[in-house]
Amino acid sequence: MPKCPKCKKEIDYLTYYAYELTKATVGIPEGTDHMEYSHWDSLGTTKGEVNFECPECSEVLFHTEEEAKKFLLEQQTPLLEE
Ligand SMILES: [Zn+2]
Repeated sequence: MPKCPKCKKEIDYLTYYAYELTKATVGIPEGTDHMEYSHWDSLGTTKGEVNFECPECSEVLFHTEEEAKKFLLEQQTPLLEE
């Protein structure tokens, strides 16, 4: 399992943060007076940087999906290791 270079804890996932443009359907259900949102959809990142953080210590480790993927894949323990 990959280890965080900062806190040295084993992590098998990262926390993703990004500014994304989102789209949803909004209406007021019959008999209520509150706005109800549904059908949330992400239309992609809009601005600023994308952060991939360690879930244990919240250190920003990567800014691109490519780097994050490499980290998660390259240090993965091979399943058929003898
Ligand atoms: Zn960490």
